[in-house]
Amino acid sequence: MPTGKKKNGPDLERLDRVVADARRAQHAREQSYRGRALKLYPWICGRCAREFDHTSVQELTVHHKDHNHDNNPPDGSNWELLCIYCHDNEHQRYLDQRGIDAGPTKGTAQATHTPFADLASLLKKDS
Ligand SMILES: [Zn+2]
Ligand SMILES: [Zn+2]
Repeated sequence: MPTGKKKNGPDLERLDRVVADARRAQHAREQSYRGRALKLYPWICGRCAREFDHTSVQELTVHHKDHNHDNNPPDGSNWELLCIYCHDNEHQRYLDQRGIDAGPTKGTAQATHTPFADLASLLKKDS
């Protein structure tokens, strides 16, 4: 028996490894800010104040306040822990606002809308 598989083996293995590496890197990035955020903050939803423990923590998500997942300052200032429901809401609200900004396709409704009134109340709420 030849010790064989020199030709087929390495290529497939390498491909596998590249795919696995890419997945792991992405996963690791998510895990690392999630892990850090969970260490930094109490396990409580920032909106509805629901509390979490080890059995339910998978329903607690890390929200990026500026919606930029690459912005992960070590002090956690861009993170907010939200339960999956509030997190959903938060993003829905963000998308709605961007929809208004992106405007024209939505018709003429935006003429009756005063974006600055909204903005002011949002700012007040957040601070
Ligand atoms: Zn919540
Ligand atoms: Zn988010």
